[in-house]
Amino acid sequence: MDFSLSSLQTDIAEAATKISAAFPMSYWRAKDRTEEYPWEFVKPFAEGGWLGLIIPQTYGGMGLGIAEAAVFLNRVAASGAGMSGASALHFYIFPPMPIVRHGSESMKKRFLPDVAAGKLLSAFGITEPNAGSDTSRIETRAVKQGDHWLISGQKLWTTNAQNAPKILVLTRTSPRDPAKPLAGLTLFFTDLDRRYCAIRRIDKLGRAAVDSNEVFIKNLPARDDEIVGELGKGFEYLLDGFNPERIVLAAEAIGIGRAALQLATRYAAERIVFERPIGANQAIAHPLAKAWAHLESTELMVFKAASQYDSGQSCAKAANAAKYLAAEAAFDACDAALQTLGGLGYAKEFDVERLWREVRLYKIAPISQEMVLNFLSQKALNLPKSY
Ligand SMILES: Cc1cc2nc3c(=O)[nH]c(=O)nc-3n(C[C@H](O)[C@H](O)[C@H](O)COP(=O)(O)OP(=O)(O)OC[C@H]3O[C@@H](n4cnc5c(N)ncnc54)[C@H](O)[C@@H]3O)c2cc1C
Repeated sequence: MDFSLSSLQTDIAEAATKISAAFPMSYWRAKDRTEEYPWEFVKPFAEGGWLGLIIPQTYGGMGLGIAEAAVFLNRVAASGAGMSGASALHFYIFPPMPIVRHGSESMKKRFLPDVAAGKLLSAFGITEPNAGSDTSRIETRAVKQGDHWLISGQKLWTTNAQNAPKILVLTRTSPRDPAKPLAGLTLFFTDLDRRYCAIRRIDKLGRAAVDSNEVFIKNLPARDDEIVGELGKGFEYLLDGFNPERIVLAAEAIGIGRAALQLATRYAAERIVFERPIGANQAIAHPLAKAWAHLESTELMVFKAASQYDSGQSCAKAANAAKYLAAEAAFDACDAALQTLGGLGYAKEFDVERLWREVRLYKIAPISQEMVLNFLSQKALNLPKSY
């Protein structure tokens, strides 16, 4: 068993760290305050071709695996860019997965090169006010009218809708069948045409630079050739992307935990209270050491899941466990870091509180910890399905 990175992965890690280093903590602090999209940050990654990391080379990408994507986004997040930086890149890499795997040849040729080059930002619309964890309950409908479709409904938490010209949107195209509740859902990749969509930004706890929105859709027209894959199979296609996304998000969370740990250990070594560095107190050192150990061990699960996925093995249990463990370990690391800085941990100028706010999201999205445990209870432990 070899636990070291390959030379390609080492190069990827170095490149991600080097590009990210041009965007210091002060840049992210300002973005957090102004809530502006980090276009300047995305640009050098787009120019370097990094947004096409897992897009096949035929369509302008690098054609690399999930392990490479995990290494890459881990280093981006660990630079202090946190979830704001990782998400700004991540949303070029993951939402297009159903198109990569199931889109028509013409859809792939037309859009994937622009996604890989960072020229096409997409919004991602699955969640709705009445359907989050239970996707089968979505109410957004696509109805065929003559030669085109009309989409109407409401999406919630739609990332990137402030700027994206396109949306990958999940719709119901046939009534919900209780025997097959996830059948009859169709994915469209279509224009987010503001004449038919009202978009309202959600004011939220963290990751302020990358917008989340409510999208009210009324009679948005779409063509047959904007359907991803086959009619009614949209959820199946999304499922394909869930495991790799969970693996890479876990790697991002670990990166954020490490960034916080670095800030905290530096502070613990320098801050003198009662005439000695606070890091000399085990009450300060042990939570940081524990966080280090949890992040390290969680990373092994991330790479196990990535290796399973990249070699075509079933990876769902490992991918879900990795996302669960990473969300816990990274939040605990940020929390221990915040405590280490005492009062200054609460001050924006010291950056730990931003990482702490951002990392909290991994416990909720893209899937909640409870739903991961529901899945593992059933699939790893053979307990009755509870959802
Ligand atoms: C910042 C942010 C960005 C997001 N970006 C996107 C995006 O780009 N596109 C998109 O489509 N969605 C996005 N989401 C939505 C996200 O995927 C959902 O919030 C998440 O899946 C949980 O769904 P929900 O919020 O509807 O919670 P609900 O499904 O309402 O659940 C509420 C709580 O109840 C728990 N719960 C529900 N059922 C069970 C059960 N059977 N057993 C145990 N616990 C249960 C859940 O775990 C959760 O804690 C985003 C969310 C956030 C906060």
